[in-house]
Amino acid sequence: MNWTKLEELIKNEPGFRIRQIERALFKNFYDNWNDLNDLPVKLRNLLADEIDLSINGQIFKSSDSGSIKALIKLDDGLIIETVLLMHKDGRNTICLSSQVGCALGCKFCKTGEIGFKRNLTFEEILLQVLFFSRYLKKINARITNVVFMGMGEPFFNYDNFLNSVKFLNDENKFSIGQRKISVSTSGITEKIRTIADENMQINLAVSINAPNDEIRRKIMPVADKYKLNELISSIKYYIDKTNRKVMIEYVLLRAVNDFPEHAEELSKRIKGLLCFVNLIPFNGNDIYKRPSIKKINEFKKILSDNKIPFTQRYEFGHDIKASCGQLIFSKSF
Ligand code: SF4
Repeated sequence: MNWTKLEELIKNEPGFRIRQIERALFKNFYDNWNDLNDLPVKLRNLLADEIDLSINGQIFKSSDSGSIKALIKLDDGLIIETVLLMHKDGRNTICLSSQVGCALGCKFCKTGEIGFKRNLTFEEILLQVLFFSRYLKKINARITNVVFMGMGEPFFNYDNFLNSVKFLNDENKFSIGQRKISVSTSGITEKIRTIADENMQINLAVSINAPNDEIRRKIMPVADKYKLNELISSIKYYIDKTNRKVMIEYVLLRAVNDFPEHAEELSKRIKGLLCFVNLIPFNGNDIYKRPSIKKINEFKKILSDNKIPFTQRYEFGHDIKASCGQLIFSKSF
């Protein structure tokens, strides 16, 4: 999809043309210009010659039947991963990538291992939504929620991220409410302040993953630059500006950040903040192991005793490597 080029091609057409095209592409999810039979044939042919509506993607279904991973090949041959989570209550959440790879190298993350390739354009971000919208159309369903939690740090691709959010929210396009859109950051404090000033209602999630800078630096190299005090202060700023509850993401790693004293320290740091903790027991890799159930329960009890609201993330798609921290493009596609 090349929206900028499309707008250029139809700039001399009557104003209602854009609405016809938007309806066809983002409401009816047509993937062939020939289906737009309310457009003049000449314009349809021009658009068919200039704008390719096909998307080169492959899907992998998880045996838990709730998640589907797509590998999408971009025009330059690079591949991104996108995950669709189909919840039993009817919500369909798409987890979007914002970059090919990631520069931040969090130690528990597969995407971090491949390094940074490039930013996605806002159109490439939207391509992922279009791909799964077409898929869901076949079963009479649609995307209800969007999370920027796939490959990459969205705030390092801020303008394209923001443009794509505006496009998703536009009632003439995907028409997904801002409160149904969430962005997860590893804690880029200046951008947390910037998004707070955008006057939007999207949900913010911050990957804290440690109760202090010392542990955080060991697992997230980005913590060298962004200290927890400054991070918490930027989260406070965001809450003051938006009055929105922030999700504090905490990946539990065995014998690294899962001790009772860590739960106590975390509680102290975030006490009084309009937030909740999303605990994510790690799936395990060569370096880190999953905490025991006993440890997870101890951690939860301390948060609860300290009156810190929390949830534990239900994990989808472990078998197709679509769970948290597992997105890495397949070289075989
Ligand atoms: S967890 Fe997110 S920020 Fe960290 S390396 Fe992975 S993709 Fe990048």
